[in-house]
Amino acid sequence: MPNSHPAAQAAVSAAASLEELDSATPGARQREDGVSYPPAEFHWGWVPFAIFHVFAVPLAWWVGFSWEGIAWCVGMYYARMLTVCLVYHRYFSHRSYQMGRVTQFVAACLAQTTMQKGVLWWAAHHRMHHRFSDQPGDPHSPILRGFWYAHVGWIVNRESDPTKFDKIKDFARFPELIWLNRWHFVPGFVLAALMYLIGGPVAFVWGYVISTVVLWHGTFTINSITHLYGVRRYKTTDQSRNSLIFAIVTCGEGWHNNHHHYQHSAAQGFVWWQIDFAYYVLKVAEALRLVRNVVKPSREVLIEGGYVKPKASELKAPVAAIAVPVPAVAVETAS
Ligand SMILES: [Zn+2]
Ligand SMILES: [Zn+2]
Repeated sequence: MPNSHPAAQAAVSAAASLEELDSATPGARQREDGVSYPPAEFHWGWVPFAIFHVFAVPLAWWVGFSWEGIAWCVGMYYARMLTVCLVYHRYFSHRSYQMGRVTQFVAACLAQTTMQKGVLWWAAHHRMHHRFSDQPGDPHSPILRGFWYAHVGWIVNRESDPTKFDKIKDFARFPELIWLNRWHFVPGFVLAALMYLIGGPVAFVWGYVISTVVLWHGTFTINSITHLYGVRRYKTTDQSRNSLIFAIVTCGEGWHNNHHHYQHSAAQGFVWWQIDFAYYVLKVAEALRLVRNVVKPSREVLIEGGYVKPKASELKAPVAAIAVPVPAVAVETAS
């Protein structure tokens, strides 16, 4: 799909290396902006993903509309979106807080009830997104490969199927996580059975099947929409943007430009009016001593984003001195 978004122009600078790739790849597709890629190769691993979509509608018709069903759907959507934010993303991908080994495993099981594959698979791909953000090597850039590829196409592409263990060595040393990553569908199937036992067909269909499909697309909006539409507080090298609407949809992940600027922060809403439900839950978990060493944005980061006014003494500091580099992911590991 041709990408007419102005930000696509930034990708043209990368065209030279990509043209080299094209010339060696028969069947590569040329785009209007001069950037092109080999066509996606489908793999069987995406079939369950398709089955959920196909069966969601007839199952909804079978059990029918009810407010009880809507409550199951919304409740299970937000309960599990919190695990996407806090576990897959802010813990395994960015290590923005710490927890013990048992808590880490339980959290990983809860996150995988979302059916978004294993925590090691998810976090490794997300680290690649930050490493190459909107440049060649980014698994899902709407700037480079268009909206639909960033939203869903990259998942059905064979090159996205394996876990990139070399990107997640810090967690791949835990055998229980390797096991869970391999049998990634188990927590989701356990949840499906529990939904049926607790609430019958209505809970199974609305609270599991439909909720899971909506949750996939809610999560994917961060890969697609928040690199195209919204406000840029920080001049990051990518096209990440902040969006209140998608912060509400995703429990706080919509402050994506904040996040790309300072990815090590556990808070993605940097000020009180930037709603970040996941961070509020994390603060409660910290008070309960389930997690520790929660990373917050520094005052320098807030000044740079224009969130707080600098004092006179801080104004004297040159801009370079208040720029905060992104910390390396290799920090203290779970015990
Ligand atoms: Zn991003
Ligand atoms: Zn991230």
